[in-house]
Amino acid sequence: MKSIQTIAEMREALESKRAEGAKVGLVPTMGFLHEGHLSLIRQSQQECDVTVVSIFVNPTQFNDPSDYENYPVDLEKDLNALEKEGVQFAFLPHAKEMYPANRLKVQMTIPELTGNLCGLHRPGHFDGVLLVVSKFFNIVQPHRAYFGLKDYQQFLVIRTMARALDFSVEVVGCETVREPDGLAMSSRNARLSEKAREHAALIPRALNLVQKTLQDRKAQYSVKCAELCEIAWDVIESGTQNRVEYMEIVDPDTLQKLDEIQKDRTARIATAVFCDGVRLIDNRPLQF
Ligand code: AMP
Repeated sequence: MKSIQTIAEMREALESKRAEGAKVGLVPTMGFLHEGHLSLIRQSQQECDVTVVSIFVNPTQFNDPSDYENYPVDLEKDLNALEKEGVQFAFLPHAKEMYPANRLKVQMTIPELTGNLCGLHRPGHFDGVLLVVSKFFNIVQPHRAYFGLKDYQQFLVIRTMARALDFSVEVVGCETVREPDGLAMSSRNARLSEKAREHAALIPRALNLVQKTLQDRKAQYSVKCAELCEIAWDVIESGTQNRVEYMEIVDPDTLQKLDEIQKDRTARIATAVFCDGVRLIDNRPLQF
């Protein structure tokens, strides 16, 4: 595996690969890798000839400075994991390489997809995500780029940006990898105390209960989303370490908030929860 820190070197290394006809896959990450990240990498390895994994804790997507400062880092462990997976390139730019001080600030935004969920509660977050991902698309020029559906709003925002800006990349969404008790894997889980970790398991349990409630209401024509969200909210906050930031049921394509779920329609329930101060997110599809 080759570790690369500069944009020029990354471009050059991939130019020759592309000239040989290699299909390039990109997996952008913020490091502290876990099985969720590795599942994206494995899919890229299966579908592409060359996989580039970027590790970059992107300052422009953190609206809370203490979240940025406390973001877990273990580069040595990450590089060992990438080596073991047979990844060809690790792209590890410094913040100064991505955002030189002498450049004017560019802002990117997709207001129609970011007015609720994390977009509402983390102002500027998706602008930062869009900026860094579009820079990576431009530098790496991947054929395919892999993103987790755990960050469902992020996936939709990035796919929309790629289409709107005519990047010739296929944005691939990958299923959420979970711990045995259902908690979505996340680098932030490492910051949970033992008790908070226990209470965090209520998050997937609550979302699954909403799906079960829908199944139990099969005789009805529609079910009110407020009622379903309240059920999930109460289950999560029955854990004393938990505070729900938002719980919403949305249209899976437009992310617009739904008032009710109708028969044979699909929807997505999404939540953000502070577990003893650590912000975790999760979501799942709903079928009625
Ligand atoms: P992050 O390092 O948290 O920015 O995540 C990098 C990529 O891995 C993003 O596309 C995430 O959606 C994805 N990812 C994070 N956690 C998981 C998970 N548990 N399952 C699948 N993908 C994930």
